[in-house]
Amino acid sequence: YGDASQKIDYVFKVVLIGDSAVGKSQILSRFARNEFSLDSKATIGVEFQTRTLVIDHKSVKAQIWDTAGQERYRAVTSAYYRGAVGAMLVYDITKRQTFDHIPRWLEELRSHADKNIVIILVGNKTDLGDQRAVSTEDAKEFAEKEGLFFLETSALEATNIETAFLTVLTEIFNIVN
Ligand code: GDP
Ligand code: MG
Repeated sequence: YGDASQKIDYVFKVVLIGDSAVGKSQILSRFARNEFSLDSKATIGVEFQTRTLVIDHKSVKAQIWDTAGQERYRAVTSAYYRGAVGAMLVYDITKRQTFDHIPRWLEELRSHADKNIVIILVGNKTDLGDQRAVSTEDAKEFAEKEGLFFLETSALEATNIETAFLTVLTEIFNIVN
């Protein structure tokens, strides 16, 4: 998980967005520190976490921004989106409403962020499959229509978290190279 001594070739800012409690902070915690907590409090004061990875022999520092609970007040500021080259748009597969709000988040993202931003739609909490309220097919269809990458994840089980970030980071890497 990152070697502090290595030189950094790229820094990519990626923002996490989506309704409260969909698992954004735990997705980040899983990716940045390989940690997960079932009773996560709203992250306070932590703006972003980083992890350095190697893509195509270059070191890429992923700087992942978390909303720190701002999303509850619909006050995610434009500073949050500034400089972002990637975005992870997260919903909870067991809460239909969090998926129904995705078009709003996408609109907000498109109005604040760079037009070339790389976006992945993420349906989190696949470990709760027996409570599923959003089908994989519906989400896939939406993602295709909007030109987004798409994956289902579980921060709890560490399923597809790595792949989701790598999908975004590799695409950004390919755009800048
Ligand atoms: P945020 O408000 O979007 O940042 O959501 P949090 O990361 O704080 O997570 C909200 C709640 O969902 C917490 O109780 C987490 O432990 C839980 N949670 C997050 N990811 C998962 C997951 O993949 N599976 C399950 N079962 N619970 C999760
Ligand atoms: Mg959070």
